[in-house]
Amino acid sequence: MQKIIIIGAGIIGMLTARLLNKAGVSVTIIEQGYAGQESSWAGGGIISPLYPWRYSDPVTCLAHWGQKNYPEILSEIHLNSGIDPEYIQSGLLYLDIEDELVQARLWEKTQGYEFNALTGESLSAVEPGLGLSTDTDKTGWFTSSIAQVRNPRLVRALREDLICLGVSIEQQTQAMSFISEKGAVKGVLTDKGSFYGDKVIVAGGAWSARLLEKWIKTPKIAPVKGQMIVFKAKPGVVSRIVLSKGRYVIPRKDGRVVLGSTLEFNDFDKTTTEDVLQELKKEACRIIPALKNYPVEKQWAGLRPGSIDGVPYIGEHPELKNLYLNAGHFRNGVVIGLASCQLLVNQLLGQEVIVDPTPYRLTEERLVSDSKTIDLRLAI
Ligand SMILES: Cc1cc2nc3c(=O)[nH]c(=O)nc-3n(C[C@H](O)[C@H](O)[C@H](O)COP(=O)(O)OP(=O)(O)OC[C@H]3O[C@@H](n4cnc5c(N)ncnc54)[C@H](O)[C@@H]3O)c2cc1C
Repeated sequence: MQKIIIIGAGIIGMLTARLLNKAGVSVTIIEQGYAGQESSWAGGGIISPLYPWRYSDPVTCLAHWGQKNYPEILSEIHLNSGIDPEYIQSGLLYLDIEDELVQARLWEKTQGYEFNALTGESLSAVEPGLGLSTDTDKTGWFTSSIAQVRNPRLVRALREDLICLGVSIEQQTQAMSFISEKGAVKGVLTDKGSFYGDKVIVAGGAWSARLLEKWIKTPKIAPVKGQMIVFKAKPGVVSRIVLSKGRYVIPRKDGRVVLGSTLEFNDFDKTTTEDVLQELKKEACRIIPALKNYPVEKQWAGLRPGSIDGVPYIGEHPELKNLYLNAGHFRNGVVIGLASCQLLVNQLLGQEVIVDPTPYRLTEERLVSDSKTIDLRLAI
């Protein structure tokens, strides 16, 4: 039986483990903290890039595959784990995108998505929480097919599912270096000892470059902090995902409403700030006025695995045989994660690939020797 070691128990590591386990591979995940407690826990769970027309084809095609295939895999995970990841097709309502309408309309036409312009009563009917008067000339654009998952539930469900399937998850175990022989990786050296396998996958999210750069060239991945807040609201205060001026509200099943998020380029610091709390509260009430009546229950931050163009690195490392990567999903690790994991598994098992792997390869121009030279501010 083939044995594969995965470094990182975020959504990418755990989905990859699930697909490999289903294909009969023995999998061990090595996690420095606890499974599903980093970016994959912290995110909004929108199963769409925020402004999808801004992204390149490689991101779009992974997103489409994920959107199509998530319902089935999530219901399997729900059934097996007993934990509902709360996949809800709440639709996404865009406000304030007048400046991008040409690109949005073109994207709608080429991707075959319905994207309805709504004003007045029809806008209020789709989202009564906007608090608009019916005579307003405000326009919204609504895509009903967009869904969401609730991240903390999704990662918990995934972890339980993997345990039921017999995948071993070594928590509080940090991968320090690779064990190699004649240019091929044989295992991973951790602070708790050595783990041996036929292949090793790095799915270390924002930390991936920090691990790799000590030994070999690394993809251009750097942490980008996102702060979020959640209101303890009641069901019905808002029922659609609403996106306005880069801020979004996401209504959860139990009435809680998540508001996100910032983009901060400050290393591995996950502290939250009072300034951002006040700014996010103000933005939430601008979009859904009734939120002013509900308390903010929690504020948190997560570290996205930022990459130059949001295109993840998927495939074998050119300098070390049998060392693979799946990292750098940036703002879209949930929506594009499932397809990225399936693509990697296709390559590992010599299967027919779901999409062309070329744009995701670890080519020389996508690698650097020192992660400190990566400045994503220049790229965004
Ligand atoms: C505020 C915010 C909002 C977001 N909203 C959305 C959204 O709405 N939709 C969407 O699609 N995406 C969203 N994202 C992005 C998405 O959450 C990420 O792209 C995704 O979670 C990345 O998954 P990952 O498994 O690569 O990383 P992570 O979840 O960070 O997992 C990586 C894991 O690797 C472990 N690790 C790292 N190095 C080592 C080591 N040396 N040894 C052992 N373990 C190690 C870490 O501890 C961690 O658990 C959002 C992110 C944030 C922060």
